[in-house]
Amino acid sequence: MSPELTQAVLLCRNLPTPAGIAMRIIALAQDPDAELGTAAELIAMDPALSARILRLANSPLFANRRRIDNLQQAINKLGLHPTLQIALGFSLLSNLRGDASLHSAHERIWRRSLIAAVAARALGEALNLQQPDALLLAGLLQDIGGLFLMQSQPELYQSLSTQATGDNQRLLALENTHFGTDHAAIGAELARQWNLPAYLVDAIAGSETPPTPATDTFLRCVHASGSLADIWLDGPGAQPAQQRLAAACGLDQEALTEVFARVAQLLPDAASVFETVLPTPEHVAALLQQAREIHELRQLRQSQLAEEALQQRSEALERQAMELSTMASRDSLTGTINRGHFDKILLTAFDHAIQRQQPLSVAFIDLDDFKKINDRHGHLIGDDVLKSVAQHLESRVRTIDTVARFGGEEFVIIFPDTALDSAKATIDRVLHSLSAQPVAEIDGQMLHVTFSAGIACHQPLQPFNSARSLLDAADRALYQSKDRGRNRVVVHVQEHIPVPQA
Ligand code: GH3
Ligand code: MG
Ligand code: MG
Repeated sequence: MSPELTQAVLLCRNLPTPAGIAMRIIALAQDPDAELGTAAELIAMDPALSARILRLANSPLFANRRRIDNLQQAINKLGLHPTLQIALGFSLLSNLRGDASLHSAHERIWRRSLIAAVAARALGEALNLQQPDALLLAGLLQDIGGLFLMQSQPELYQSLSTQATGDNQRLLALENTHFGTDHAAIGAELARQWNLPAYLVDAIAGSETPPTPATDTFLRCVHASGSLADIWLDGPGAQPAQQRLAAACGLDQEALTEVFARVAQLLPDAASVFETVLPTPEHVAALLQQAREIHELRQLRQSQLAEEALQQRSEALERQAMELSTMASRDSLTGTINRGHFDKILLTAFDHAIQRQQPLSVAFIDLDDFKKINDRHGHLIGDDVLKSVAQHLESRVRTIDTVARFGGEEFVIIFPDTALDSAKATIDRVLHSLSAQPVAEIDGQMLHVTFSAGIACHQPLQPFNSARSLLDAADRALYQSKDRGRNRVVVHVQEHIPVPQA
């Protein structure tokens, strides 16, 4: 053992023993059968401690709890073990805090402990560690080694602290030179001798050791809390502390800013419990302002995204509705307008023709000998022929015309604002091109079809009295074309209405 280490152990042997109440709290805190009543009696023996526990139970550190008036209620609310742990922290630190006339270096350790306590808790929240009270206590006690050195060797330690100029790494190096060990090791030894729970001994011992990938989250929070406290006390110039903080907790800049905001929120109450005031320094206030702006921007972006999502959803619904209405109006085999929708379109077209004094032609088309195609080649080939004919019809008429499947192998075409001659010319052309073009290929054989058609036309001087009678006339013309040998177009000639003599 090096002489420095021996000196350090000797040093630890001479550590002060905490006051009687603290010793009994330590024992009770580790007793699994500890009872609330015993704890309340114990704490009540120290009026200053009782007042602090009460103040703590009513502080936002334990937010959303109703007003607590007595110690029993406080312990009930905080929980027995958390209360004992916190009471422990209070009495140990009061022991080491010394008198009111603190040297600035002593005051710094004291402040660092308080900030680190709240920081450890806030970091635990950010990292989803559900141990707020244990973190608070570990953060608070991590520097008891420093407080102890300050009390046992005030002149030497104050001078070392002054030389370190607030740089914790430099302080550790100076401690090692002078004591052969550092305040973390001394604090842990102190905690061990006081019989503090093992997790606290470990947290204090590891508080200044940079975490490795194997380090658990609790220790990371404690280590990071010290770095956060350094940044809080020294400003943004504390670059190495910032790097240590980020490396220890693994949180990104944005999450860390939120941790700072949480510390700022919790700190005033934690400080008042210890009858200290810890104002938020300017550089932290600026950081928090930045955080607020980022938060507002993010909220704005989120509401924009929500609006966009809503917009996209309503567009998708609209598309869906359109697809549904298309499906409802289309024939599933050929994709042409179905019978139900055709009836509506024809009525509307007929009304328009009357209102605008325009001609309206309707062609009724029926494939010739279609049954034979089914009989010879099967219904699937028959279906393909129907699809192919439908495509042919649609590709040969104008967009204002409507091709509908009336049923089976019968199609109807509505030609708005079209005279009889013009409709006939179109259907003649369609029949010619359809019959010239194969509609299917079966075993290398080309299959051709023809149709028969009947056309009728409503016009101002040769009117029909209903859409139905116009369609009937086209149907009758179709039958004539079948009678005359198929593969042809027959027009229905409607009677002229007599023109009144002038
Ligand atoms: P015509 O020249 O006198 O019109 O004779 P056709 O054989 O075309 O007429 P008919 O009315 O005797 O037969 C029509 C056939 O169309 C009978 C029916 O099985 C068939 N058919 C009706 N709808 C479909 C369909 O969706 N798919 C198939 N493959 N065949 C259909
Ligand atoms: Mg038929
Ligand atoms: Mg037919």
